[in-house]
Amino acid sequence: MSALALLGRHKVSPHITLPIHPFMLELHCHTTFSDGTLTPQQLVERAVTKGVKALAITDHDTIFGWQEARTAAVPHGLEIVPGIELSTTYNERSMHILGFYPDPNKLQAPLNDRIQGRHRRAQKMVDKLTELGFPIELPAMPGSMAPGRPHIANALLAAGHVTSQQEAFQRFIGDHGPAYVPYEKFTAQEGIELLRRCGAVPVWAHPYLFRGGIVEEILPELVEAGLMGVEVYHPHHSISEERVLEELCDRYDLLMTGGSDYHGPQPKPKAGDVDLNSLHLSLELLDRVKQAAASLN
Ligand code: AMP
Ligand code: ZN
Ligand code: FE
Ligand code: FE
Repeated sequence: MSALALLGRHKVSPHITLPIHPFMLELHCHTTFSDGTLTPQQLVERAVTKGVKALAITDHDTIFGWQEARTAAVPHGLEIVPGIELSTTYNERSMHILGFYPDPNKLQAPLNDRIQGRHRRAQKMVDKLTELGFPIELPAMPGSMAPGRPHIANALLAAGHVTSQQEAFQRFIGDHGPAYVPYEKFTAQEGIELLRRCGAVPVWAHPYLFRGGIVEEILPELVEAGLMGVEVYHPHHSISEERVLEELCDRYDLLMTGGSDYHGPQPKPKAGDVDLNSLHLSLELLDRVKQAAASLN
């Protein structure tokens, strides 16, 4: 089947009514266990209202959100896809690798190291901000939770040092900001290998958000390391970037996935905000991910 046939959101004539029902897949979102603003239960409820039929929970470096999501999903018949978004580095820049269907018993111990690293990193950013003259207080964050830069941005906002999250990234914690601290060393290759060892399908998240190299040049190295898929459909990818990624997936025989990378509603919602199911992806994409996961076991 062509890539186009797998999508429900294609730019067809408005007079053609496409069947709605197969296009209800959401393979990338965050909860309060990382830097999302909705609890897993709230996320599930919103997904149901948006017509999602299969929802992946892909928090940064933690899988503790799965259980609450599964419990909340049962009465709605919503399928929860267990996932993770691993924070890794490539060329010393942040690279995110999604993993679908990891064995939690195998992944939990290595993840504990990653989560603790995120707590150390958050504290280092707090220390840098204090040195710069912008002291902040982070909320209490349990060990199961993976702190990220959005938490720092919110603390800067709460302390009155900035007037928006965006300003916090621009002035302090963006990739070149004076209070930015990179992840503790863990390469993309190591992340891909870890996911495969744990039975998870590794997928390069939002390749065109990567700032450390050219997608076409990096992809073969990731494939060599065991990458099995690419997140083709993402709100920050242009249509032409999606076409390039579709072709690369064909060339390297990779799975295609997609998701809204939803982190919760904006404080001041407006038309055009990213929302769950805004990409209208076909459930057939998920069938292929499941087949790939089965091949790893
Ligand atoms: P971290 O993994 O802790 O470095 O945080 C990455 C997260 O920060 C991403 O998933 C986004 O949610 C958010 N983020 C990154 N850059 C920006 C930015 N310039 N403005 C707002 N949020 C951002
Ligand atoms: Zn995030
Ligand atoms: Fe990401
Ligand atoms: Fe994400």
